[in-house]
Amino acid sequence: MTETTIMRSTALGGRFSFELLGTDPGSLARRGRIETTRGTIETPVFMPVGTQATVKTLHPDEVLGTGAQIILANTYHLMLRPGVELLKDAGGVHRFMGWDRPILTDSGGFQVFSLAANNKVTEEGVTFASHIDGSPWKMTPESVIDLQLAFGSDIMMQLDHVLGLPAERPAIQDATERSARWLERAVAAYDNRSGEATRSVLFGIQQGGMDADLRVWSARTVGSMDVAGCAVGGLSVGEPKDVMNAMLEISTPELPANKPRYLMGVGSPEDLWNGAERGIDMFDCVLPTRAARNGALFTPDGRITITNRKWQTHHEPVDPSCDCAACSRFTAAYIHHLFRAREVLGLRLASVHNLRFLARQMEDIRAALDSGTFRGAAAAFHDRYRPVANRNTAHDHPRGAVRS
Ligand SMILES: [Zn+2]
Repeated sequence: MTETTIMRSTALGGRFSFELLGTDPGSLARRGRIETTRGTIETPVFMPVGTQATVKTLHPDEVLGTGAQIILANTYHLMLRPGVELLKDAGGVHRFMGWDRPILTDSGGFQVFSLAANNKVTEEGVTFASHIDGSPWKMTPESVIDLQLAFGSDIMMQLDHVLGLPAERPAIQDATERSARWLERAVAAYDNRSGEATRSVLFGIQQGGMDADLRVWSARTVGSMDVAGCAVGGLSVGEPKDVMNAMLEISTPELPANKPRYLMGVGSPEDLWNGAERGIDMFDCVLPTRAARNGALFTPDGRITITNRKWQTHHEPVDPSCDCAACSRFTAAYIHHLFRAREVLGLRLASVHNLRFLARQMEDIRAALDSGTFRGAAAAFHDRYRPVANRNTAHDHPRGAVRS
């Protein structure tokens, strides 16, 4: 790793900071560190998703045990159920769910546009019907700041206007420009409403679809605003992986080097390596836990399906190189049995394994950056790992997920 002049950005009077520790000379990859009042986050980092204030099937200690440093929750879902008043009474989402490390909350923009019915965008915001009971709701750039401050999120996301694919350029441009105007309002609302004691910082979201010019414009616009970090949104929504990589390569150089960059909704093992190589610091995805519940487990060679007959008599761990709580104690044959018998422990063990597998990828990426061996480590990973497909599916995307 090249010694760069150490770059640092701070917010909350220094209570939130990002430190760029170094960059890889052969790629856009970076090694960094985020400090929050609830803990340190070494980057690049993968963030497990706990949409409904739970990482599905897992106790928070199990999540922590996989090496998780920060998790996600979702404003849209928490607003509808259990509701902001209950979460305030509970003392915030951390206390409610028994997780005292950092939490990033997505604004719910994507859920409004993908899950809710009758959504209608105006310049003011978006109205929609709850997917749970059809009740009418409204979100504005200001209201999602209020909600996330009330939740006590460590990292809040702006409300953005998200389009389904395919979309024509004028529609993409319109949504991208509206998202930028909504970010300006979010920043103003944040400045007005967050008090001295707040632990929450705000990230903006770059959009622009698969349009290079709009991506560059949006990255520069988001990067010019007073935000603690910059997210890349609207990727991994069904486009081929080489298109996503190309969009990242033109986007990250336009984002401020001294702020963390978060690629939303990306979390297949190959995309973590690809994203890190292109200058991304933070990732999240429902994929590891959702795939686990479907019996798909990651190994260094690719995904396996634990319910396949070949695992019935395999009295070895799923991944002998894995140090997770599942692999260090149970065999593939046992997990196969649990899935066949529909025992819930199977879902839990598979989830623990997949989260640990991704956390280990990030540990490998960070170690390779620290030792200046990123290129070789990435090549070794890609030589061995066989991806499921060369296209990201919208199904794997938490921002597009149906009932994630
Ligand atoms: Zn394991």
